[in-house]
Amino acid sequence: MKHADVPFVIDFHTHMLDEELRAICTSRNAITGFGKKQAPPSANLGKFLDPELQIADMDERGIDMHVVFTGPVHMSTWWADPQTAAKLTRRMNDIIAGWAARYPKRFVGTITLPMQDVDLAIAELTRGVEELGHKAVLLPTNVDGVYLGDRKFWPLWQAIRYHDIAVFIHPEGIRDPWYHKFALWNSIGQQIEEAKVAASIIYEGLLDAIPGLKIACVYDPLALATLFKRVGAERIVLGADYPVGGTDPVGEVKEAVTLSSDELRMVAAGTAAQLLGIETRS
Ligand SMILES: [Zn+2]
Repeated sequence: MKHADVPFVIDFHTHMLDEELRAICTSRNAITGFGKKQAPPSANLGKFLDPELQIADMDERGIDMHVVFTGPVHMSTWWADPQTAAKLTRRMNDIIAGWAARYPKRFVGTITLPMQDVDLAIAELTRGVEELGHKAVLLPTNVDGVYLGDRKFWPLWQAIRYHDIAVFIHPEGIRDPWYHKFALWNSIGQQIEEAKVAASIIYEGLLDAIPGLKIACVYDPLALATLFKRVGAERIVLGADYPVGGTDPVGEVKEAVTLSSDELRMVAAGTAAQLLGIETRS
């Protein structure tokens, strides 16, 4: 749905998949209970795979741009050895670069990293920024139980700060089997992962050690009113979790909280544009 009072909309939380990578990775990821069951049939699969289908939805829903990330619950490479993960994530980053090159006004490209090896992750980050022109980086909450505030990741955080690139932390699906019995890995598990990574980043002192990092986390829309009171519109970006989330993210924000027109424009696009260092029509 288009909203006449919101001239430009950037959806900061959208996903893509690739058939070949999906075939390699999905049986090792949360969507299949880490190989214990078949991936559930998805009516949205085509939309994950096809930039033109995404653009058709964007046009219908009044969304100008997708900040497009890989699908971490389908295509995470956490299971692979570092060299394999580097090869697979390079392919992911190249495919997204292709989407952004074909439709530069509709897609903002992002980087996925081989997190098993911090040096390889830094090298791919650098390639993603300098050669592919990507504007944000997708990080999991943890690597084999070590959360992102841990000092082992600080060289990567330093590289992220050096490139001044926005980070989107998106859980890959909690691994504890208890959450997979009733498919609670997504509804409850992802939020536990988000709380754990936020605690790790804060309590390990990362934000004091490396000031100026730009980090986005996922928030439930039901918590929006509280979030606005705490941090304000200039710290909140819109994200629908396309193609599995709601179809009218601007409408959901309007319903959840009363904002001035300036605040609404910031949330719909202004804050994201600043974070990504891109221009918007206003
Ligand atoms: Zn998502």
